[in-house]
Amino acid sequence: QFPFGRRLPCDIYWHGVSFHDNDIFSGQVNKFPGMTEMVRKITLSRAVRTMQDLFPLEYNFYPRSWILPEEFPLFVDEVRMMKDSDPSWKPTFIVKPDGGCQGDGIYLIKDPSDIRLTGSIQSRPAVVQEYICKPLLVDKLKFDIRLYVLLKSLEPLEIYIAKDGLSRFCTEPYQEPTLKNLHQVFMHLTNYSLNIHSGNFIHSDNVNTGSKRTFSSILCRLSSRGADVKKLWSDIISLVIKTIIALTPELKVYYQSDIPAGKPGPTCFQILGFDILLMKNLKPMLLEVNANPSMRIEHEQELSPGVFENVPSPVDEEVKVAVIRDTLRLVDPQKKKRKDVQDSLLRAVSAFCIMWGMKDKQHKHHSLKLSLKLKFYLKLGSCQTLEEASEAKEEAREASAGDGGERGGSRSPEAGLPSLCLKQVFPKYAKQFSYLRLVDRVAALFIRFLGVKGTTKLGPTGFRTFIRNCKLSSSNFSMASVDILYIDITRRWNSMGIDHKESGMCLQAFVEAFFCLAQKKYKSLPLHEQVSSLIEFCEYHLAALDEKRLVCGRG
Ligand code: ADP
Repeated sequence: QFPFGRRLPCDIYWHGVSFHDNDIFSGQVNKFPGMTEMVRKITLSRAVRTMQDLFPLEYNFYPRSWILPEEFPLFVDEVRMMKDSDPSWKPTFIVKPDGGCQGDGIYLIKDPSDIRLTGSIQSRPAVVQEYICKPLLVDKLKFDIRLYVLLKSLEPLEIYIAKDGLSRFCTEPYQEPTLKNLHQVFMHLTNYSLNIHSGNFIHSDNVNTGSKRTFSSILCRLSSRGADVKKLWSDIISLVIKTIIALTPELKVYYQSDIPAGKPGPTCFQILGFDILLMKNLKPMLLEVNANPSMRIEHEQELSPGVFENVPSPVDEEVKVAVIRDTLRLVDPQKKKRKDVQDSLLRAVSAFCIMWGMKDKQHKHHSLKLSLKLKFYLKLGSCQTLEEASEAKEEAREASAGDGGERGGSRSPEAGLPSLCLKQVFPKYAKQFSYLRLVDRVAALFIRFLGVKGTTKLGPTGFRTFIRNCKLSSSNFSMASVDILYIDITRRWNSMGIDHKESGMCLQAFVEAFFCLAQKKYKSLPLHEQVSSLIEFCEYHLAALDEKRLVCGRG
């Protein structure tokens, strides 16, 4: 709780729901601006679709989706075409209202002409998605996986994945969808909030059994059946990184609008809940991303009819406590300060040792001892109270006791804690994924031309300046055509009713215009090559312009 009237800033702000500024000028906030909007069903589907257009194979972990109502005609046409080309294809679709959660309002259909769909599309925007008919079953039941992911930083991108997660089970044995069983939610939907109401739900004291288990217990089972669990983990890591790569461009637009660069402001981190379904062939498929995953470690139990009590849930506790504990360890501002001081001391002492010509082994030993002593004097100097000073003295005494000074001296508050459950996956595997970050670079161009700080939309002048500075207009592409392109695309995106607060071109519309320009300029290449060629072309001209301005400035 942030007591009313508190003036001192905090190191960490842990908000319940979303990022809200409230004049936070420093520290770290546990939410990114715009994250809640970005992971809504429609926005997530759009962001993934853009990546599927560029890299269809890399992004085939997300079911084919259509956005309603605007893509309803497309949905009908595409399904008809696919059925024509493969008459044996008997698909099922799942309809999910935008902004819904916990299975709310979700239903299955067999055909686009289903009355439930046609009756509701105008009143409630939704995503309709191909239903995965052959999920992996355990004990004949469908289940999904909730994995916790820490987005520690956006720029540079830093991602951690929790080594364990939750598996949430259905409570009716699974059958492939037929017109008869389409309505059986306990068979098709894995949501805990729904299945808890089934008479078959099993609360278990053991993390390996019951309707909610640890993901590691499932992995053990799969491994004993001979499944390649290592490959499964690597596919999951890749799914998580690619999904975050799809979200970062727009998150950066929100970020610069809420926390302008160059001004004092907080930095952000966020724990996300990834919902993943394993197909029978062990391919992980992304269902959705949760910006505000439940961190409850209790569940409600009906003691007698109508009498409920909160009781501890060992499986939730096992997974979630570790995630929060390790998030705090990773974002701990004191840790960074400690590390910086230690690094600079070691550097200074190394220089000192080299100056005195100490040999390597000797140098290492002395440098550690000296560094600990120096650290003590520095700390003593900065102590403001007697208690702090005596604490520092105590620390120094421990540090210099015996030759194993290093261990005693760096007695960190983490000593005694279990090893980290969060595993860094980015930048660790950055090299493998950097070629996918094209839209990020398009977003950087967009942000450069936004002009007034605090906006998320590009005005017509900004768009014209972008075209001019990147030397994109020519005799076959006049400035009049540039204006028409701007108006056409902007009007269409704004008519989809995404955000009426500001007028102008949103990032998604800019990306569409950029793809159009790329296709026009580099005709016969695949889309991702057209786009990367245009990005390079723009970046080259902007760098030349910056250089010219720098020289003029100096002059
Ligand atoms: P909500 O936010 O309401 O939980 P989800 O997208 O997570 O919405 O869907 C709810 C449940 O429906 C999932 O937990 C999963 O069991 C099932 N589900 C969702 N999408 C699919 C799909 N494409 N194929 C098969 N099952 C799905």
